[in-house]
This record gives sequence, C-alpha cells and structure tokens, in this order.
Amino acid sequence: MGSAGEALGRLREGNLRFASHIRASDAVLRPTRPADLAAEQRPFAIVLGCSDSRVPAEIVFDQGLGDLFVIRVAGNIVAPSQVGSVEFAAARYGTRLVMVLGHSRCGAIVATLEELRRPTENQSRNLRAIVDRIRPSVEGLLATGVKEDGATLVEQAVRANIRASADHLRHGSQLLEQLIQDEGLLVVGAEYSLETGIVEFFDGVPGSA
Ligand SMILES: [Zn+2]
Repeated sequence: MGSAGEALGRLREGNLRFASHIRASDAVLRPTRPADLAAEQRPFAIVLGCSDSRVPAEIVFDQGLGDLFVIRVAGNIVAPSQVGSVEFAAARYGTRLVMVLGHSRCGAIVATLEELRRPTENQSRNLRAIVDRIRPSVEGLLATGVKEDGATLVEQAVRANIRASADHLRHGSQLLEQLIQDEGLLVVGAEYSLETGIVEFFDGVPGSA
C-alpha cells in the first residue's frame, strides 16, 4: 500500500483526466475484471463524499473497481457510522488517505442555511439529523456580513462544512488519531466544482496553507 502522498497524486491526476475529458483506457489501465477482486480489495483512498448524483467519486477521479472505498451521505456529514466506516477501511486495508469531498452548490448546505433563517415545523426527524450536523459549522457565517451575499454565503458554508467533517475525522476517533500519529494517515478536505469538474484540495494538504 502506498503513502498518503502517492494516493493524493493519483487522485489529482485522475481528476485532471476527468476534467479534461480524457478517460483512462479500459484496455490499458483497467485490466480488472470483477472476479479478479472477489478475494480481496486494496483501495488506495477512502472518500467521504456527498450523495449528490453529480459527484460520484469513482467517476470524478477517473478510478476503477477496487480503487476507492467510498462513503456517501447528503452533505458529507460525519456521524458515528461514517467514522466507523473510515476506521474499518483504514485499519483493515491499510489505506492511508482519507478525503472529505464536498461540492459547490450543495443542496444539504443550502437547506441548512434556509432552515437557520426560517425554521420549518414538522421537519422529518431524520432529515433534521443531517441539518443538525451541518448547522454548527455554518451558523456563525450568518452573524457576519457575508450573509447578505447569497452565493458567497453558500460557498463559504460548503467549505466550512468540509473543514468541520475533516476535523471531526481527525479528532473524533482514537483509532484514526493513532493512525495519523504513527502510520502517516492523512485526512484532507476537498471541494468539487459542479461548474468546472475540478477538485480543489484545500484543507489538510501538506505543504499548502
Ligand atoms: Zn451535496
């Protein structure tokens, strides 16, 4: 299993292929048939992404069967089952890169901002569980000048939520903390642009702010 840095490089290259409409040739780079992976998997990255139909991790990073261990949930929130899924993959497969992948114009973020401005009654308890996970990282923005600018507000809220999820994974699990400290596990935050198809790695990447 490669290092977190190598995994990051593969994801960057794959996204570049995707964004430039060049897909890896199935014959050359994807010799894997389902049966070849039946006995074991060795995913090189763990991705916690949003369920949005426009942001499937395997496609936007141009990866194939067995490459990514993907957890998807609306708003790429972190609840115990998401932490558990990351712990499972990191411990069992030795995967050393964890990425939280949010995206521009995320519907879960927009819904949370709407809910903070105009609370609805009788909201589904289950939906509320998602909004409640996003709320703490974005409600502070409503106390700033940025709340007057709808588009900027959503942009900043999307990033704040990605940072909060990445932070939760870094500090909300003893197992992951230990892997970070001893085994070079890296947790990064990234945002996919629905407009350009490009993923920007903006949180937790070594050597960048
Ligand atoms: Zn979303």
